[in-house]
This record gives sequence, structure tokens and C-alpha cells, in this order.
Amino acid sequence: MPEGKIIKALSGFYYVANEDGVVQCRGRGVFRKNKVTPLVGDEVVFQAENDTEGYILEVKNRKNELVRPPIANVDQAILVFSAVEPDFSTALLDRFLVLVEYNQIEPLICITKMDLTNEEQKSRLEEYAEDYRKAGYEVILTSSETSEGLEKLKPHIEGKISVFAGQSGVGKSSLLNAIRPDLELKTDDISSHLGRGKHTTRHVELITINNGLVADTPGFSSLEFTEIEAEELNSCFPDIAEISEDCKFRGCLHMAEPKCAVKAAVESEALPEYRYSHYKDFLLEIKDRKPRY
Ligand code: GDP
Ligand code: ZN
Repeated sequence: MPEGKIIKALSGFYYVANEDGVVQCRGRGVFRKNKVTPLVGDEVVFQAENDTEGYILEVKNRKNELVRPPIANVDQAILVFSAVEPDFSTALLDRFLVLVEYNQIEPLICITKMDLTNEEQKSRLEEYAEDYRKAGYEVILTSSETSEGLEKLKPHIEGKISVFAGQSGVGKSSLLNAIRPDLELKTDDISSHLGRGKHTTRHVELITINNGLVADTPGFSSLEFTEIEAEELNSCFPDIAEISEDCKFRGCLHMAEPKCAVKAAVESEALPEYRYSHYKDFLLEIKDRKPRY
């Protein structure tokens, strides 16, 4: 039986791609048999009725599953933040990073609009970039205007399923256009493509860019910590998680506990104060969350 990857879901049809082309499949059988609704990104086994039509027989095990947008097997989240307009925010970046880490997706941090920065802003951003690299993240400074950083970004897209994420107006569509000019996504009109609104039909598609697949809808539209438990937050900050191995108490939450290695690391400036401060803010937010029944 042929196998392939679902690259688009629309009006009850799944478009399954492999090296032979794209086959439009129905998925009803697989739901009846395995109680699984196919998702874009799924690896599937299908039965072809002819060259262009068929039906899905089996959905392979998923490595992960995003709800918004509904995509399976996401390899990478490209977190897009502008240097200015709107201003770069470590608080918002840390929030995205926690959600991405929690979903076990590899993040890549991309800081756009570098052409709009003055010297002072530029050196500040380079310091932040260094901080995040020390925490173990890949950080790329870009400009869709001058093409700065684009050649560094391109190879990261190859062979993966990526989801772009970030506030509207930070330059996600511009970045996609810059790395694949024939795409012609509308910029300045966030609801038109990489956004919500206008298109009310829930349609997700993976588009081919630089030998990789990129979701045409931005990920992580909800930035609330609805599922993360207080004890799980530590592992969503890889830098803090590593330092916490030296905390006196196992399961230390780095708040009032004595002999906390994380607080010591902030004191000695081995850990940026703002990372710890966001950790604390998020922990309180999780603890204050209304219980769900
Ligand atoms: P999106 O909502 O994240 O998709 O953001 P857009 O790509 O639509 O960009 C929002 C605005 O920022 C548009 O007016 C773009 O022209 C502008 N913009 C995006 N990237 C850059 C950049 O690297 N440099 C400059 N100067 N402007 C940019
Ligand atoms: Zn601790």
C-alpha cells in the first residue's frame, strides 16, 4: 500500500503527498476503524482508487499534535519576534518558549526588522541573543528588508515541518516571502494569510519552502498555560532545569526553598535575572489558575 504525508485538509478531503504526487483522499474509514481523525502532518497509509483519488487506511503514530493550528508531527517552531515595532519582549518570548518546550517541539528564535534598530538597540538585542544561545537556543537576527540572516535561516527549514509563531505585525509573512519570493503572501494584512479572521473555514496547509514544509497558519495562538502544572514548569526552562540539578531539594520550585541553586545562579549572574523573574511570574500564574473539572 502507498504511504505519504497529509499536506492539506479541506472540506473532508485530505491531500496526501509522496514522491509520486498528491492524492486526494477521504478519511472516513480510518476514523470508523481506529477512532482517529487524520491531521495535516500525519504520515498515512492509503489506498489509491486511481491516480488522483483514494482513501486513508491508517494513520501512523504521531510524535506530537498541536491543537491550534491542528497539525501533527511538528518538528520546529520558528518564534518570530521583531527587534522594534513592536519592541522585542523577553517576557513574551519566554512565554512562547515554555509552550513550545511543553509540546516537545524544537524552537528556533528569529529576531526580525534588525534594519530598523539604532546602534544601542542593536547591541542590546545582540546581548539578548547571546543570553538565549547560552540557554541552548538557536537565535537568528534577520531583516526581510536587507536580507540579513536569511541564508542562516534557510537551512533550518530543510527536511522539517515548521510552524511560525509570534504576534501579528512582527514580520512572519514578510520573512516567508523573503525566503521564498514566489509565495507572495500578503504583508500588512495579517488576517489574509498567516492570521485568523477573513478565512473562516478552518483550512490548514503545509507549503513547501526550501525543501521543508511550513504551516500556512501561525501556531500557538493561545498563550495561556492551561495544561502545564507547577512542577512541570522547571523542565520548560532548559537553562533553569540544568542548574536545578544542584538545588538541595528534589522538586525545588526555586521560590522559598533553602539552598536553591537557581536563586544562587541569579545572584552570581550565571542566569539572567529576567529568565528567573519570568519563571516566577509563570509559576504564580499556574498556581492561581482556576481548577478545571
Ligand atoms: P506578520 O503579521 O507577522 O505576518 O507581519 P508582516 O510580515 O505582515 O509585517 C508587518 C509590517 O512590518 C509590514 O508593514 C512589513 O512591511 C514590516 N516588516 C516586516 N519585516 C520587516 C523587516 O525586516 N524590516 C522592515 N523595515 N520592515 C519589516
Ligand atoms: Zn531551586
